[in-house]
Amino acid sequence: MNELFFSEKHYKLKNDLREFLSEKIVPIKDEIDKKREVPSWVIKEIGKRGFIGPLIPKKYNGTELGTVAHCLITEELSRVNVAISVPRTPCILMSYLVTHYGTEEQKENFLKKMATGEKICSICVTEEEAGSNVAGIKTKAEKNGDSYLLNGSKRFITNAGVADYYFIWAITSPNVNPRSGMSVFMVEKDTPGFSTENPYGLMGIHGVQNGILNMEDVEVPKENLIGEENKGFQSLMATFNVERITLGSESNGISLSALEDSKKYAKSRIQFDKPISRFQLIQIKIAEMATKLRAARLMSYSTSKLHELGKDVTKEASMSKAFASKMAVEIASEAVQIHGGDGYTDMYSVERYMRDAKFFQIGGGTSEIQNLVIAREELKD
Ligand SMILES: Cc1cc2nc3c(=O)[nH]c(=O)nc-3n(C[C@H](O)[C@H](O)[C@H](O)COP(=O)(O)OP(=O)(O)OC[C@H]3O[C@@H](n4cnc5c(N)ncnc54)[C@H](O)[C@@H]3O)c2cc1C
Repeated sequence: MNELFFSEKHYKLKNDLREFLSEKIVPIKDEIDKKREVPSWVIKEIGKRGFIGPLIPKKYNGTELGTVAHCLITEELSRVNVAISVPRTPCILMSYLVTHYGTEEQKENFLKKMATGEKICSICVTEEEAGSNVAGIKTKAEKNGDSYLLNGSKRFITNAGVADYYFIWAITSPNVNPRSGMSVFMVEKDTPGFSTENPYGLMGIHGVQNGILNMEDVEVPKENLIGEENKGFQSLMATFNVERITLGSESNGISLSALEDSKKYAKSRIQFDKPISRFQLIQIKIAEMATKLRAARLMSYSTSKLHELGKDVTKEASMSKAFASKMAVEIASEAVQIHGGDGYTDMYSVERYMRDAKFFQIGGGTSEIQNLVIAREELKD
């Protein structure tokens, strides 16, 4: 399948990445889950090695390798432990935002540091009363001379308490349709009036920090408005396409490992005097897992290729995310089944895959919302 999408640069990237992963990450992949901690050096190191950079121009410390390369990196990191890819995702999305909507000054001052992992980012949209309905956000940004005053709160924010740069969507024109009345601001972590909390744990993706942001009269200079005032909804939608491609590839990374582990286990586990891989009921599971994974990866890579070619991938990105995450949940569940009692213990990674996979049907827009997008695009005149 790789031959359809990869050129020389992708094979080289894959080799470099695998070398880095086997040397630095594989030895700690289970510890991350058990300790519920992704060491802070991991994301910095990923950034330093250029693995945040494929969608960022070289001029701003990116690698310009493109969306297929981004998809490949995401899949490879997620194969080892998806919890090392998830905190990197907001960095990629917000780099994409600044690359396409930021001023030259913002690219010089912020983007160059984001591209190399020197500054970690958060994408801050979701609120208590605004989850699937992004247009329902209540956080306000009021003009105050040469700055804006932000008030409100956000929840479920990845990298809360870890990030340096928080990109916050807020209402700037309260009396119009929010789609034409929201803007996005970059808030630095130590800004007075800004605080974070991490009051809950997560079912899976252990090690990812997720929490609440509170803003009380947070003063943000007008230089930190990203893109035009009141155009934040449009820039968010463009960013969502990259998010959905990314989350699809993260799902595929989990599925790749679930299938690999299952084949290995099925060949070595003896029951009724033979390896269980010799039973046809196990074989059909392996066959279906492999087929589902191939379909999901073909969809993710073809969407990435279209995105790289500059095509509108609104429908395809939603399809890739909804399909790949559904397949990851099914494949991980079958992986546990093939492992029998072992699969239900923490001695094997398949129980982690099952917990991790579920996130991808929720975060970045639920599967229901992806299906609404797909149906809307399909039914367009
Ligand atoms: C681990 C984690 C990390 C996250 N990281 C971030 C982050 O970094 N930044 C950020 O801004 N957000 C983040 N989120 C938030 C995430 O994007 C939202 O949880 C998600 O969009 C759903 O919103 P909600 O939780 O409010 O659910 P709700 O919107 O309340 O949905 C509840 C249920 O109703 C369904 N539903 C809602 N509307 C419709 C409809 N019109 N038709 C059919 N069904 C519908 C949903 O599909 C879901 O099944 C994260 C969430 C999690 C769990």
